[in-house]
Amino acid sequence: MAPTGDANKLRRPPVGVTNEPHLLFARPVANSAPSSQYRFGMSYDGRLAPHHGVDTAPGLGIPIGAAGPGTVFWAGDDLTEVFGTKNDFYGNLVVVKMEAVWNGHTVYTLYGHMSQVAATVGQVVATGDLLGFTGSAGVAYGPHLHFEVRLDDPYSYFGAVRNPELWYKPIPGAGIIAGRLINGAGRFVPGARLFINCKDALRFVDTYWDQGTPPDDVLVENFAVSDIPQGNCNIETTVRGIRYATSVYVPPGEIAFVIIQTQDK
Ligand SMILES: [Zn+2]
Repeated sequence: MAPTGDANKLRRPPVGVTNEPHLLFARPVANSAPSSQYRFGMSYDGRLAPHHGVDTAPGLGIPIGAAGPGTVFWAGDDLTEVFGTKNDFYGNLVVVKMEAVWNGHTVYTLYGHMSQVAATVGQVVATGDLLGFTGSAGVAYGPHLHFEVRLDDPYSYFGAVRNPELWYKPIPGAGIIAGRLINGAGRFVPGARLFINCKDALRFVDTYWDQGTPPDDVLVENFAVSDIPQGNCNIETTVRGIRYATSVYVPPGEIAFVIIQTQDK
């Protein structure tokens, strides 16, 4: 898997903390957090393809609500249309075209692997309106919600997806860490594990493998972790045997952005 990310394409990073982007949505299942083993762009320790969304709400039959106001674009199985890599990938899914347009992009949210769909195409939904129930339809290892954000092309599995953790509000009192792990030439370092040590817990996240899991248009990050309690966190990683560390203050309700650059080219 070749490193990706062209130095020429990397924009000037946001300075410090930003809430400019787009924490526009609510989470589809209240009080649910993304699976830490398989966040956006991660490979589940090499066992799975890079993840195009987040997995949350493990369990069968949990009600799934719309992440924000919009219109139902797709509701049902994916036997006739491909939303993943093949038919019957999401099993039963709902796609909502969000009312919010961001940075000139039409925004879609996708809810996959449902046991039961409870919405109809063309239905206008408000935040939290019932879309369906968690399940394991399609390609899934167990019942959960697979949640995605896609820009512009609701059918595009590759390239249109963005990290959902940068689109919904963190839990009260918490913020988000997003960042860029780049090499000496300014290119993304893929698949590197970062350890994020905050006052409540030690977390880890792997940088995006890419392969169809691109960064945010503004942040141009290659990792993000949401629901970090307000306060300082230490971040460290080891790349080619060299340890790199930094620290960051995470404000509530906002995104703290960090850049770690390694010495190697
Ligand atoms: Zn998933």
